[in-house]
Amino acid sequence: MTDVHLTDTHCHIHEILGPAKGEYPVAARWHKADITDPDSVLRAAREVGVNRVVCVGCTVEDSALAVEFVQEREGAWASIGIHPHEADRYVRDQAALDRFAALALHPKVVAVGECGLDYYYTHSTPEAQTEILHFQMQLALKHNLPMVFHVRDAFADFWPIFDQYQGIRGVIHSFTATRADLDEVMKRGLYVGLNGIMTFSKDLEQLAAAKAVPLERMVLETDAPFLTPAPIRGTICQPKHVVMTAEFLAHLRGESLTELAKTTSVNATKLFGI
Ligand SMILES: [Zn+2]
Repeated sequence: MTDVHLTDTHCHIHEILGPAKGEYPVAARWHKADITDPDSVLRAAREVGVNRVVCVGCTVEDSALAVEFVQEREGAWASIGIHPHEADRYVRDQAALDRFAALALHPKVVAVGECGLDYYYTHSTPEAQTEILHFQMQLALKHNLPMVFHVRDAFADFWPIFDQYQGIRGVIHSFTATRADLDEVMKRGLYVGLNGIMTFSKDLEQLAAAKAVPLERMVLETDAPFLTPAPIRGTICQPKHVVMTAEFLAHLRGESLTELAKTTSVNATKLFGI
């Protein structure tokens, strides 16, 4: 047992129960690591003090699965999103978008995302990514939900879209950008989500930005099953590993683990209302 309590504000553990084949086969990654029981993953997290998780959807079906998954599980909430990688297949599918929008009414849905722009991979066209981002921003405003943003190599296009709306709250998830980008995030009152990338990053600019995030604007996440922290790279990432990122950041920033854990959890409560 531990008296440090942490919140994993971004994970994909519901996908353990998702399809291992087809258009969005993330379950295969969990199954390959012999993980087929999400409740054992939640228990393992609780044992090390990670007692709250936000399960993040990336497609319409995956978001529906996240909502269903958190319904009966204590300490788990859902964020519904269409990832920029998946945008192409939804631009002309109004029925799917309607199904997606209806999910926002569920009481355990605490955010919209992950959504945003990804120009690093461009699995979907920038036009489709932009259209699907607008759709989700309007949905978030309509339901007064915060947003989980995924922005990679695309801040120059992202801010003009963001600035068209007033009253959007949220977090830039998996923040790995520079001090200058951080200033833009802070100017807009958004939170910064840091994860395992920091523990193995060799990019000094990235680390300097992580050090500069005001503690009252920081939340922690794993992005499990992805981005396993050092020194256990090569194994599958789980919410329990948020402890390793917290320890690394406390050391990097010269803060106590207790203070960092407490403040980031309070931030998660404020951001998501959980
Ligand atoms: Zn994610």
